[in-house]
Amino acid sequence: MSPFDLPEGDPFGPHNLPYGVFSLRDSGQRTVGVRLGDHVLDAGAAARALGSPHAGLLTRPTLNPLLAAGRTTWSEVRGSLTEWVTDPSLRETLAPLLHPLSSVALHLPFEVADYVDFYASEHHARNAGAIFRPDAADTLLPNWKHLPIGYHGRAGTVVVSGTDIVRPSGQRKAPTAPAPVFGPSARLDIEAEVGFVVGTPSQQGRPVPLSGFREHVFGLCLLNDWSARDIQAWEYVPLGPFLAKSFATSVSAWITPLEALDAARVSPPERTHPLLPYLDDTSGEPAGYDLRISVAVNGHVVSEPPFSTMYWTAAQQLAHMTVNGASLRTGDLYGSGTVSGPAEHQRGCLLELTWNGRDPLELPDGKRTYLEDGDVVTLSAWAPGPDGSRVGLGEVSGRVLAG
Ligand code: CA
Repeated sequence: MSPFDLPEGDPFGPHNLPYGVFSLRDSGQRTVGVRLGDHVLDAGAAARALGSPHAGLLTRPTLNPLLAAGRTTWSEVRGSLTEWVTDPSLRETLAPLLHPLSSVALHLPFEVADYVDFYASEHHARNAGAIFRPDAADTLLPNWKHLPIGYHGRAGTVVVSGTDIVRPSGQRKAPTAPAPVFGPSARLDIEAEVGFVVGTPSQQGRPVPLSGFREHVFGLCLLNDWSARDIQAWEYVPLGPFLAKSFATSVSAWITPLEALDAARVSPPERTHPLLPYLDDTSGEPAGYDLRISVAVNGHVVSEPPFSTMYWTAAQQLAHMTVNGASLRTGDLYGSGTVSGPAEHQRGCLLELTWNGRDPLELPDGKRTYLEDGDVVTLSAWAPGPDGSRVGLGEVSGRVLAG
């Protein structure tokens, strides 16, 4: 069967076409690829072969030049790619440029500029509040419904799916212990998130409004915000997470352009508090996304968090992170925050799934409170596409190694 003839309902059909960076296993040369079914199309070579004016953006070792080119170019490139993979007269030209996924190595698809992580799920925030502040009158802190809470993370330790994660060491202190101890984290966790990738930069001093989201953001990926809960609990007061999260953040190898996700746009949950004008999204186009995430530990599904339940949208997060005049750079990455739905099987981290270790998960290979050495965590997702199709978002996977 030709790689162009995809099975009915393939989530990586011509309606999807996510971008990545690959190299053939026998050459070190990295270049931009587009996923079609279980193959990757060498997009740069295709552009050169077909005389596209955008070949220069696609024959690169990262997506950054394409990201920087802006929305008009993104649409043109996507339009061309869609035409190429669906035009039967081009099959002969393109067939040698399609490589089975099993024959390529996938790399970090873009050079990460700044990395920010948010905290946008009300269910996650309330569960975390109930676990860490059991005596508080309200499980949400007073600012939560007024602004998207976030912190600056570490761009240099963002890694692509498939990269091993070394268990971090650090200080931890049990509430009753007289002094902190040092050693490998005993409470290594994951956070199932969605990452948004900035393309077009902005000028310092000029906030990006809610309406600027689709001008500046190129697409999204899956993101696992590995978190050492014991290190976090001791260090986070008063400035927030630091070494508990900066050791590694994993992203999927495929960046799905926003244009592939138009059919997945939904309204976010009803706003329970009036918002300041720069965050007020009660009018305008729906800015939420219906993404169905699945979390597996060693191949066993432990959770299915629905992204549509996120209170703060990616557009609001972008508006908020620039409202003080901070500028965007091409390659900026911002995480949504842990995705947790209202139901127990929709919680996006082990902290919530096991209630901080109180209720272990029963896996086929034994009980889990937090991750053990050798565990492989895989997040995968899909979104509704046009005409009842599915848009595959790929996966982000990582194995825990002893620290
Ligand atoms: Ca996080």
